[in-house]
Formats: sequence, structure tokens, C-alpha cells
Amino acid sequence: MVPCTPKRKTRSSTTLSTPKSSRKPSDTTPANTPRKSPEPRTPKTPRNATPRIPIRNQATEKPANVLEEARLRLHVSTIPVPCLPEEEFQDIYNFVESKLIDGTGGCMYISGVPGTGKTATVHEVIRCLQQAAENDELPSFQFIEINGMKLTDPHQAYVQILQLLTGQKVTATHAAELLAKLFSTPGPKRKTTVLIVDELDLLWTRKQDVMYNLFDWPTQRQAKLIILAIANTMDLPERIMMNRVASRLGLTRMSFQPYTYKQLQQIISSRLNHIKAFEEDAIQLVSRKVAALSGDARRCLDICRRSTEICEFSSQKSASGLVSMAHVMKAIDEMFSSPYINSIRNASLHEQMFLKAIIAEFRRSGLEEATVQQIYHQHVALCRIEGLQIPTVSEIMAICSRLGACRFLLVESNNKYLHVRVRLNISQDDVMYALKQE
Ligand code: ATP
Ligand code: MG
Repeated sequence: MVPCTPKRKTRSSTTLSTPKSSRKPSDTTPANTPRKSPEPRTPKTPRNATPRIPIRNQATEKPANVLEEARLRLHVSTIPVPCLPEEEFQDIYNFVESKLIDGTGGCMYISGVPGTGKTATVHEVIRCLQQAAENDELPSFQFIEINGMKLTDPHQAYVQILQLLTGQKVTATHAAELLAKLFSTPGPKRKTTVLIVDELDLLWTRKQDVMYNLFDWPTQRQAKLIILAIANTMDLPERIMMNRVASRLGLTRMSFQPYTYKQLQQIISSRLNHIKAFEEDAIQLVSRKVAALSGDARRCLDICRRSTEICEFSSQKSASGLVSMAHVMKAIDEMFSSPYINSIRNASLHEQMFLKAIIAEFRRSGLEEATVQQIYHQHVALCRIEGLQIPTVSEIMAICSRLGACRFLLVESNNKYLHVRVRLNISQDDVMYALKQE
């Protein structure tokens, strides 16, 4: 992670790194607001009054102390600028840049587990490209974005894309037809469109038509469409299409790796930007814990923010007045206090081993679903390492259905014995946290 590449030299980091102040003057406690004396006759609202937002006659409050400022900087909605994954940034940038220059299109499939900086990096790429286009270093392009999470139904993707492109608002079926026509008709004067499809996983439909179209449109030369599709699942394209077809689509792939301990440490430090709110070993502790569990930057920032609150309102202040390891430990315990965690800790040895085997299998395959057979292989390997007796297949099936009954797992209902597919119904972080020996 290098803060700047030559491509990004034009960035003005000062404006971007300033956190937005979210404190409003109304944050004062109710006790401070003057009590209303017996109701004087309130004047009636004038008939033709125009509603308007009250004008603020004071500037927004500055953070009251170091801890509050740290909290604002650590907020996940604050724009991250420094230390985005450098190589991924550059690859995505180069991909879009080359297509823009050639006047062609294509789709890049970007995957990775939550909190690995996918959305942040892609947005930063677009910002840098827009800047380059403004400076006439690149052909200008039309940028639009949709997010699977924000759509009520996958087919609404068509409606949104068409509306963003042309302003037309029509039904999903009609929009799909119009888009297909648009992307197959040559438009020599048309600018290239860059479309971000975030949270692509949620556009899964039974006929898989939405995802199929998203992968297919950019292959048509006249479409001049560049799609950056962001998903958590690594193999969506293969699941949608037969492998052969998936390769015909010529998707360019990129996968984001979970952040390492050092990277998380760097992310926190750069967010704090020299404000001394944390003891050094407290930052190390959060980074190590999160890196060992998931490498999720969002979780990391959440824990840091909560730690500052615990520190501020704690009666046992550390000698330095800064956020200490004790505050961080408390925040971590709070974050992972789902009732599931206790149940996992109280589960039998082989049930715990089965959960570990699931995670091992998910990590191996990069998928979030596995058959009992695949998990069984991992289970056996783990037993060998730990010197435990290896359970029989029917014992494994029993463990699996018990964990399913406790809702730790989602187990396919049709009985396919060892080929039954299993998913976790709780977050991998929670399982890892519960099973970690202190
Ligand atoms: P998801 O799969 O859940 O959508 P994601 O990979 O898109 O996750 P982001 O939304 O990009 O993750 O990042 C999660 C949070 O962590 C955001 O608040 C983002 O600002 C922050 N973050 C991620 N990477 C960095 C970084 N390198 N520097 C600073 N902040 C970061
Ligand atoms: Mg995202």
C-alpha cells in the first residue's frame, strides 16, 4: 500500500481527508434545554408561510476533544484517501483507461470478502479518471452506478441503468429491451459509459438474466460499455454460466485480499492523521485481532470508534487519558457478544471442529458454500493435526444436522447425503472469535 501513484498525483488530499463534522448543535442534553414556561399564546403559523430550513447562525461545533475528533476520523463514512491497496488500484485504473483510449468496452469482475476496500478503491479510481478526463488527458466518459443492496428487486437494475443513462423511466421488461437495443446499436458519437455495479451478489435471479446481461452487454463492441462489477463471491460468473461461456465473455478478474495486520495498522494511523488518541499498543491490538479474524477494515474502524467512546465515558481512565488496550478489549468483547458465540463455545469438540473445517474449506475454495463431503475432508485433516479420533460419516452427518438445527448452518433440505450443500448462517468472524483460544 503506497499512498500515491504517479496517476494520482493530481489529488488534493487536504480537502478530501477533512472529516465531515456530524455533530449538530442539538446534541446538547435535554436537561440543558430551558423548560417551557406556561404556554404563552403561540402565534398561528402564517397561512402562506414557505417552509424553510432554519439558518444556522453558528458554525458547526468543532470536536470537543481529541477522542471526539478521533471518532469522526475513524467513521466509516469518512472518505478514505491514503493507503488503498496499490496494486488493485492500478490494475483497475489501467483496465478502464485502456478501454477508454481504445473506445471499446469490457467487464472487470472484482471480488473479495467484506471490508477489503473494494468499493473505496473503485470509487477512487473513478475520481482519478474523471480528473484525468477533465484535464483532457483521457476521452471523457459517462459515469453511472447502481448498487444491488439499494434495489428492491434485481430487475430494477434495468430500470435504474436506463434512467441514469437516458432519463427515461419505464417498466423493468421494457427497460431491458431498450437497453439491449441501445447496446447493440452503433452510436459513433456516443461517449463510453463506465458503470459500477456494486453488491452484484444481490442481483441473483432464478433465470440469472440480469447478471448474464451485465456480463454480456460489454462484449458488444458498439456498446462502448465498461462495467466494474463488485461482488463478495468469487465464482459468480461460473455459477451463472457454464465454464465455457464464462470464458467466452472474457471477463477480467481481480480479487481483493483481506487486509494484513500491518495494513490495518496503517489504515487506522492514517485515518487518525497524527492525532494522538490511542496508545500505540492499543492500535496494534485492534489490528492484530481483526487481521487474525477477517482482515475487514470496516470492522477494524468500528472497533476503534467504539473504543474511543468506552475510553471517554469510562470511570477508569488510563494514566495517559488515551485509548488503551483495556478499552479496545472491551470494545472487541462487545462487538462479538452475539448469543451464538456462547453456544459455539459450549458446543462439543467435534461440532467445533466441524465449524473450523467449514471455514478452512471456504478459505481453500474462496466460496461460501461447500458440500458435507468437502467439509469432511477438512475435518479429517484437522483431527489428524490435533491427534483426535476421526468421526465416521454418519457421525459427521449427525453433527451437521445438529448444527443446522441450532441455526448455525443453513443445510440444503433435499437429502443428498454427503453432497448436501452447507452455508454458514453466522458470520465467519463470529465463529473464528468464538473458537479462538485465548
Ligand atoms: P463490502 O464487500 O462489504 O462492500 P468493501 O470491500 O467494498 O466491503 P469498503 O466499503 O471499500 O469495503 O471498505 C469498508 C470500510 O473500510 C469503508 O469505510 C472504507 O472507508 C474503509 N477502508 C477500506 N479500505 C481502506 C483503506 N485502505 N484506507 C482507509 N479506509 C479504508
Ligand atoms: Mg463494498
